[in-house]
Amino acid sequence: ASGYSLLRDPHYNKGLAFTDAERDAHYLRGLLPPSVSNQELQEKKVMHNLRLYQVPLQRYMAMMDLQERNERLFYKLLIDNVEELLPVVYTPTVGEACQKYGSIFKRPQGLFISLKEKGKILEVLKNWPEKSIQVIVVTDGERILGLGDLGCQGMGIPVGKLSLYTALGGVRPSVCLPITIDVGTNNQQLLDDEFYIGLKQKRARGQEYAELLLEFMSAVKQNYGERVLIQFEDFANHNAFELLAKYRTTHLVFNDDIQGTASVVLAGLIASLKLLGGTLADHTFLFLGAGEAGTGIAELIALEITKKTSVPLEVARKKIWLVDSKGLIVSSRVESLQHFKKPWAHDHEPVKELIDAVKAIKPTVLIGTSGVGKTFTKEVVEAMASLNPKPLVMALSNPTSQAECTAEEAYTWSKGHAIFASGSPFDPFEFEGRTFVSGQANNAYIFPGFGLGIIMSGTIRVHDDMLLAASEALAAEVTEDDYLKGRIYPPFTNIRKISAHIAAEVAAKAYELGLATHLPRPKDLVKYAESCMYTPVYRHYR
Ligand code: NAP
Ligand code: MN
Repeated sequence: ASGYSLLRDPHYNKGLAFTDAERDAHYLRGLLPPSVSNQELQEKKVMHNLRLYQVPLQRYMAMMDLQERNERLFYKLLIDNVEELLPVVYTPTVGEACQKYGSIFKRPQGLFISLKEKGKILEVLKNWPEKSIQVIVVTDGERILGLGDLGCQGMGIPVGKLSLYTALGGVRPSVCLPITIDVGTNNQQLLDDEFYIGLKQKRARGQEYAELLLEFMSAVKQNYGERVLIQFEDFANHNAFELLAKYRTTHLVFNDDIQGTASVVLAGLIASLKLLGGTLADHTFLFLGAGEAGTGIAELIALEITKKTSVPLEVARKKIWLVDSKGLIVSSRVESLQHFKKPWAHDHEPVKELIDAVKAIKPTVLIGTSGVGKTFTKEVVEAMASLNPKPLVMALSNPTSQAECTAEEAYTWSKGHAIFASGSPFDPFEFEGRTFVSGQANNAYIFPGFGLGIIMSGTIRVHDDMLLAASEALAAEVTEDDYLKGRIYPPFTNIRKISAHIAAEVAAKAYELGLATHLPRPKDLVKYAESCMYTPVYRHYR
């Protein structure tokens, strides 16, 4: 290839880091200024430039430009500065990027499959330049973060998630494929926008929707085989539960909003037992919010209890209560409940308000997954603190504006007794001379390592026991030092090591269940996971 095209190809381009010998050998003489740099120096320079931008979206766009110019440098930056750059390439900034995706869209970063492609999806897949794909993240854009229906502009989400698969989980970028399915949007603002990039029609529902998804799922399996992991992301809950139930027996599917969330929250709960005492079965859980996150977490807690004790699932569920927009979920409501809520309709008189539910149920653990901010009021947190020496409070709704309460509020209102974790990050908070560092229940702890474990073992189906294995592996990474600060999640700085351990445990479970196809099983799965991980260090071109 010509030197010019080498510089234009983000997989190979190293910019000023091409050595003199490489410049001679690959027709690069004169195409670059004389100075020869190296990756460390380039990293320093880009980070410096990035920090000059005050507006988060500018940082996001600078990162996307870098990804399109020099892929290895992009991943080097992301890996070495994970705490700083995670909020740039992912939540919260990616949300704003999706809202403005139409105007910042430059080049395709993934595949768009719309109703126009019906009947041709297999051909569409063949248009993608990479032939061997191991992970697909797919959205239909209907529930992007807490921002609602962004239609075709949801593409930022699969792109962002997959860059975390690579940076945090070490999955090679070339095997990752972001896909957006466009069946229209019900977002009137987008429909009225002359620059909107998606289909200008209301969302297809029912049979039309189901048929497109079936064609998509079949085409993926036909084109990439049995062992491609399909992660569903940011589908609205009326489709999410159904798609997962429908395809989990025929495809390798994972829903991060339901299963990934459940796994990361369960990890925090398992870790918190060191601080709270007792086993999971000794605790009583109350959720505000009974959607994908809430019922997903609840189900995995119940499953973990059944594995640790001999208690049947129905009995384990009785210790878990959920409140939705109509109040406490109780048996008298069962007829009118969506099917994913029915298992949680226990015998109790109706209760409307959260504070009354707290007083009636007397939970030891309170978890917010409603998407509505400021709902853990002073009264609610004080009630939790009066019921428990150490109440566990998880305010999971994102972004920060939607958090049920802040770290400061949780620590102050509980007089420093609460164990607190949240969905969006909060700064450390000092209370009466002690510094509390709250944990972030970020799905990015789990899905990259989980995916790596699946891929490296050649697993053909996702099993709930693998989610439990991932939770246990993450909980085991919390150190004494973390506990002393009150945190029930480890720092993100060690995320690659954490991912390798999660991958190893997930793979071990897959071998145990007979779902792994890469045989024989490697002896040391942690070492093997590490050896599989992509590193973004420059290669030498001879
Ligand atoms: P979802 O499926 O739409 O569920 C939302 C639930 O909240 C529904 O059950 C809804 O009740 C309930 N709700 C809404 N307003 C309420 C109110 N005022 N009082 C009581 N309940 C109310 O959404 P989701 O996917 O579960 O996500 C929910 C939130 O969790 C989002 O903010 C998301 O960012 C967050 N989340 C965090 C993490 C994390 O921290 N790792 C992961 C995933 C999601 P009805 O059913 O009655 O409508
Ligand atoms: Mn999501």
